[in-house]
Parts: sequence; C-alpha cells; structure tokens
Amino acid sequence: MPKITKQNIKSPIKPTWCAGCGNFGILRALYAALEELELNRADVVTSYGVGCCDNGADFSANYAIHGLHGRSVPPTIGVKLANHELKVISVSGDGGQYGEGLNHLMFAARGNHNITMLVHNNNRYSLTTGQASPTTPKGTKTKTTPEGLIEEPFNPLHTALSAHASFVARGYANDFKQLKEIIKSAITHRGFALVDILQACVTFNKDYDFKWYKDHVEHLSEDHDSSDWNQAIEVATKPAGKLFTGVYYQDEDRPAYHESLDVLNEKPLVKQWQAERDISPVIKHYA
Ligand code: SF4
Repeated sequence: MPKITKQNIKSPIKPTWCAGCGNFGILRALYAALEELELNRADVVTSYGVGCCDNGADFSANYAIHGLHGRSVPPTIGVKLANHELKVISVSGDGGQYGEGLNHLMFAARGNHNITMLVHNNNRYSLTTGQASPTTPKGTKTKTTPEGLIEEPFNPLHTALSAHASFVARGYANDFKQLKEIIKSAITHRGFALVDILQACVTFNKDYDFKWYKDHVEHLSEDHDSSDWNQAIEVATKPAGKLFTGVYYQDEDRPAYHESLDVLNEKPLVKQWQAERDISPVIKHYA
C-alpha cells in the first residue's frame, strides 16, 4: 500500500470552494502533515459532516465517510474501536461541530478517544449562505440575526479543556507552516485532539477578511507551557482581542480510551474477529 503523498491523496474531483476560501489552506496543511508522517493511504480514515469544508470528502483519495450534519465524530469512534491501528480524523465546520455536534465533542474528549478533530471555524454557516453560527461574535448582523446576534460567542478551546480534552490547539488556515505542525502533533497525540482552525469565508463573512486575521492572529508566547492546564484555560479565556494560535494544552500521560479496554490490549478488534470467528453464516443469511 503506497505512502501518502500530496499528489496521490488528491482524488480526480477538483475542490468547488470559492477562490480564496480558507478551506484550501487547511486541506493543503492536512495533506502535507499526512505525507510528512509517512502514513499509508489505507491507514487513514477521515469522517466529514455537512458543510463547505465537509465536501473535502470528495476531493481526497483515502477512506472517507461523508455523513450527517454535525455527526462526523460518532463514525470516527466506531472506526477507532474496531481498528485502533488506523489514524482517524474528523473534519467539520464550526456550525456543525460546535452547534449540532457539540455533545459528540464533549463525550469524545471525556473518553479520550484517540481521534483528531479538525474544525474549520469561519464564524458562519456558509454552505447555507452565511447564517450566524455558535462562534459568531455577539451583535453581528447576518441573515438570521438582522438586528444583531443576542448570544455570546461559544469558546471551543475553553469548552474542550473543561471536558478533559488531552490535546487542545488552535491554528490559522493561512499559516501553513504552523498549522501543518499542529496537525502532525494532533494526529500523533495519544488521545482526543481538538484543533480549532480559524479561516476566512470570503463570500459570506466580509467582516473577517485577511486583513482582519492579519491584525488579530498571533502565535502563543514561546513561554507558554502546554503541559499546564491552568495556563491553557487562562489564555483560552482572555477577553476578545488577539487570537492565539499554537498548542494550548497537551497531556501526554493519560491513556486513550481503547488503551483502557483489556479486550483490545493484544490486538485490534477487527483482527480478533478475523482470526477467531467465522461470520460467513451471517453473511450468507443476509446475502
Ligand atoms: Fe469557503 Fe465561504 Fe465559499 Fe464556503 S462559502 S466555499 S466557506 S468562501
């Protein structure tokens, strides 16, 4: 089975995203990370929900699931429990993951399921033409909030940290070098990893253009200690102003969910079934 390269991971289907969309930078960083980790194409599974970024399922030539809105996580947990030797990545937008799919984030984090969650965060439901999402700032006028959004914006980093996520990071779509390294660290992390990725939606979020991101995005200080949960919480809850990118928190000692199951210690479930159980009568019955 070939190793992933930036070329062979692309499917024949070309991305249909708007020119200048942040999704391009995130997909490029993901491909580069997979190549640099020297992973086999058959050993990576991605799971997508519904949204602009989720159409990435069609543009990539690895095993992928294109499921329901906000529901990219449950299949990744199922895949991981069946075969924990695979690298499993959930990809979704802020609307899907932090809205409808928030419970999945919380419980995947609590259990420390060994999956990587990449969230394309552009502060809008963009596939449906720009409605306010959970991360849209208070007061923003959109089609669904013509007089300004009443709710406070959702803070994904603080929530993930509070839900015991063992890896919490933030990247920016146009900072390829840093984003690629963050994604590599998230994929190799032993447990649940959230990477919130800031991105521009050039079509439905004109307030947050490239200049805005240039003025507001900044790397975490070199003094930041990612093993210190309290420090991570402090930076994640700083009042609005700068948006810091980098690894906020990583707990390298906590075992992943599957590592706490004795039944999976010897080998992945899928290999146990192949070796010890004959399921051909079941297949014949339903054929
Ligand atoms: Fe990207 Fe926005 Fe276009 Fe969707 S609508 S493809 S998020 S720029």
